[in-house]
Amino acid sequence: MSDPSSSAPEVRAAARAARSALERVTNRRGRVGVLGSLNADLTVTTRTLPGPGETVVGDPLVVRPGGKSANQAVACALAGADTLMVGAVGDDAHGEMLRESLTRAGVDISGVRSAQVATGTAVITVDHRGENTIVVSAGANGTLGADDVHDAADALRAVSVLGLCLEVSDPALLAAQRLVNSAGGTTVLNVSPLREVSAELVADAQVLIVNEHELAAVVGSDPGREPADIAAALDGHGIGRAVVTLGAQGSVAVEAGLVVSVPAFPVQAIDTTGAGDAFMGTLMAAIAAEVPLGEGAALASAFAAVAVTRRGAQASYPGQPELQEFLA
Ligand code: ATP
Repeated sequence: MSDPSSSAPEVRAAARAARSALERVTNRRGRVGVLGSLNADLTVTTRTLPGPGETVVGDPLVVRPGGKSANQAVACALAGADTLMVGAVGDDAHGEMLRESLTRAGVDISGVRSAQVATGTAVITVDHRGENTIVVSAGANGTLGADDVHDAADALRAVSVLGLCLEVSDPALLAAQRLVNSAGGTTVLNVSPLREVSAELVADAQVLIVNEHELAAVVGSDPGREPADIAAALDGHGIGRAVVTLGAQGSVAVEAGLVVSVPAFPVQAIDTTGAGDAFMGTLMAAIAAEVPLGEGAALASAFAAVAVTRRGAQASYPGQPELQEFLA
């Protein structure tokens, strides 16, 4: 957004809301905990994706830090929040890369333990049009259970916001959600990647973050993109606080009966990998600073807009100075 004066009025209003949210995140410190997955993203670009039984030649392998929860923790810390990561990695080079990436962003990794299996891995192929295939091997993420929540209980009780997504098992997610809910914190659930999930986990999350496909799965039908229809669908399922992300169409935030439509910032997107995680991490930083959901979504929209202009997930996320410059 190099020239805000040339932007649409709703984009200028979102930039104002985002600046105000960023100021509050900077000045008010509630701790955010993120419990979940850490993956090494192994990416090969090819001219065409291979079909079954087919071999194709690819460009050099690129290894980057990823995993939905680790991405969210990095975004949250870079947006300015005091952030704790709870998860597991293998005792290997990928685990070391992930620890380093989190630490560089300022995330407290005292809750990341070593497992006796390999670090979680996402094997990604991308063709020249940006179409991709992804195979995730859970590795150490698959060892995360209710025991880990027990071990990290004191640290988790102290967070004001807890972020969860579906790349680790339900027992771990449920244990963490119950603990933080009963300690008075705010639990935020990203219903992604979409899979069968415990109804309790969805019902007891205080804030839901979903894209349009995840929303359709949660409410049982596709309400489309009209903010009023999205709000009605959420209300019909007793969901009072949620943000629905709509890719380059922006997002819709619903809180206390208020429906706020937040635009995406106009940028030249080159890689949207991890855009949803960038959004969720930043939104949690805003929630921890008690910023209203609509304003928090504006800040998250700005953060994700910068991220999509670069390759990778964590590697594409901006720090506060760059975010301030983007919004200036
Ligand atoms: P993913 O699973 O690919 O990480 P997602 O489906 O969870 O993504 P999206 O709705 O695609 O999430 O994107 C999240 C937010 O990122 C959007 O609400 C928007 O604010 C921002 N965003 C995504 N794509 C673009 C884009 N092309 N230009 C600007 N902002 C974007």
